[in-house]
Amino acid sequence: MQICLQPEYVSNFQCDGAVCGSKCCKKWEVDIDGATYQKYCTIEPRSERKKIVSQIKYKKQKGKFIVEMARDGSCPFLQSDGLCHIQKTQGMEWLSNTCTIYPRIMYTVADLLLRALTMTCPVAAKQALLSKEPMQFERIFIPAEQYEEIVRRATGRLPKLEAVLLDIQRGAIFILQNRSLSIDQRLIVLGFFLDQAGDFVEAGESEKIELLAKIYTAEDFEKQVPDMLHAIIFHPVEYVKSMFDLIETLYGKKAAFQGRERVLMRRVVRAFGLEQEKESLASLVEKYKNDFCPARDDMLRNYGYIFENYLVNEFFLNHYPYALVGTFVQNYILFVMTYKLMEFMAVTMVMTEEPKPDADRLVELIEHMASSFDHNVAFLRSVARDTLKRQKNVVTCMKNLLYAGEDYLT
Ligand code: SF4
Repeated sequence: MQICLQPEYVSNFQCDGAVCGSKCCKKWEVDIDGATYQKYCTIEPRSERKKIVSQIKYKKQKGKFIVEMARDGSCPFLQSDGLCHIQKTQGMEWLSNTCTIYPRIMYTVADLLLRALTMTCPVAAKQALLSKEPMQFERIFIPAEQYEEIVRRATGRLPKLEAVLLDIQRGAIFILQNRSLSIDQRLIVLGFFLDQAGDFVEAGESEKIELLAKIYTAEDFEKQVPDMLHAIIFHPVEYVKSMFDLIETLYGKKAAFQGRERVLMRRVVRAFGLEQEKESLASLVEKYKNDFCPARDDMLRNYGYIFENYLVNEFFLNHYPYALVGTFVQNYILFVMTYKLMEFMAVTMVMTEEPKPDADRLVELIEHMASSFDHNVAFLRSVARDTLKRQKNVVTCMKNLLYAGEDYLT
């Protein structure tokens, strides 16, 4: 038996192509592992083998077999009933590793298997994000045979991470689920926690992180929070500059936006009145204070649980602070910035759409942003490069992006 740690929603997940329009079978690269390709070469009768194998090409530059998508970007094996031709004619066990594993992301820590679902799958996103209760985690037993099959399928995608990650996750998730604080306040406390944890790792004292997590999760820890919040005086001008510079880097160079990116940019333009010409920084900051902040506060008052669930899932799923090669602080800065970009896009949606977006629409937006972060390596690299250039250390990042609240302005 193998123990697996996962959010409880994972056990309830049921892939349903009819609900999502088989989203994962479209517009992204499906690679076929060598063993599965060889298996397809044995399919009988020959005509069926040819039908399947002819749609898969070996890409020399990438060193792997890739399914050739149809002109509209959909998988050639996707049938009009939303089902997969290979699964239907050959059986579930004939699916490639990619198709079997998605939308699960897995890694191991010590003897544990950890897994969660990526928010790029609409069905998983609804299950994970729409619960008003804080996300719960469970330990389940996986029979040895099933575990061996998971390991085989996940070859190359099952990173082994430091045991200390479990203490970090315990502390971080506790902080992120502290509903007596605003989301920005929780992110500030998380910054202090990860900064201290990173110092221990760099000093070769990782064993102290267990105690650090105990301190941050103790009942009387709340008393220390006001001092942390007082230390972070928010800079609205830097926030606006950071967001618009990042948006310029990510979307600004494209001559014409397409599809959903175009929709995102239209909302930003309308929300900040940029239709005519580029506004001055001072007027952007005014709009930020007068229109953006009230809309954001209103959104988080009604739907804060969605954003909390996103943060908790994201931290666990991408095994922060080991998501990128870099220090704990650099990982933290990227974690905050990707969240802030997503929150920014959600607020511009609230500012410009009538009727106002409901919970389902906000989840759709998160799913879209998650697709950019998780499936577009160039996009995430640009976010990381731009962010780490501007937010040079943990305190700068917090002061530029996180608002501790009016009570902590002095
Ligand atoms: S894994 Fe998710 S996106 Fe893919 S078909 Fe199933 S429900 Fe749809």
